[in-house]
Amino acid sequence: MLVTDNISHLRTARWADPRATWGLVPTMGFLHEGHLALVRAAKTANDYVAVSIYVNPTQFAPTEDLSTYPRDLERDLALLRAAGVDLVFTPSNEMMYPAGFQTRVEVTEITRYLEGVSRPTHFAGVTLVVAKLFNIIQPTRAYFGQKDAQQVAVLRRMVQDLNFNLELVVCPIVREPDGLAMSSRNKYLAGAERQAALVLRRALDAAEAAVASGQTDAEAIRAEMRGLIAAEPLAKLDYVSIADAQTLVEVEEIAGERLVSLAVFIGRTRLIDNVIIHR
Ligand code: AMP
Repeated sequence: MLVTDNISHLRTARWADPRATWGLVPTMGFLHEGHLALVRAAKTANDYVAVSIYVNPTQFAPTEDLSTYPRDLERDLALLRAAGVDLVFTPSNEMMYPAGFQTRVEVTEITRYLEGVSRPTHFAGVTLVVAKLFNIIQPTRAYFGQKDAQQVAVLRRMVQDLNFNLELVVCPIVREPDGLAMSSRNKYLAGAERQAALVLRRALDAAEAAVASGQTDAEAIRAEMRGLIAAEPLAKLDYVSIADAQTLVEVEEIAGERLVSLAVFIGRTRLIDNVIIHR
């Protein structure tokens, strides 16, 4: 497994066999089963797998957790080695954003909703860094998790709009046995917060159950979800959304494919989760 922060070394390895297919899994490290599921999916479909580990400063607002974001490179590399990864790209900030850097990559519309309301600068950082990673590694396929549903929608748009020559592959959300979606940020959850965090899953379960029992009024479902969050003392709601799964615009009726998503603070930790429902 080649571990490098050097773009020309990376390119030499990437193009050693120009006909080989490469899967890329972009991550911010502190890896868990959700990341490893992406790696496994990449391994099955490609000759080689590259993983990037980079806590990208441009996608964090000044008030967010950039400096405290959990990191453990040695553990990550051991997991990736065991998973049979071929190349790990670990760039520095100076390499990604050298003095004089002044280019933006922005998707302007679907970035305004949901996460974009609370994190208005977030997706511009994501699209910028992912566009750079795509150009540096030039993967055949790139793997992302449905956990970050809006990120997937935004990156799909970017790939289409900028003609990136790759296939974007989306993998299902990996959960802890009790239903909590895996996240590097779960490490922040202390004591009773870990149990309180299950309220996200409970709210999504309630939405699914309501739809299964014939409820088609989206606002009634949002209200039920808000009620469940309000009943959990350690939780503070950021948003609940029931949106068109393609446009991410809020809907009134449950019909077709809907993205039910929410963001909730558990103490100081902001968690997100979602489910797609069809009717
Ligand atoms: P991150 O390191 O949090 O930026 O995540 C890197 C990639 O892993 C993103 O595409 C995430 O959507 C994906 N991911 C994170 N958590 C999960 C999860 N629980 N299940 C599936 N994919 C995940």
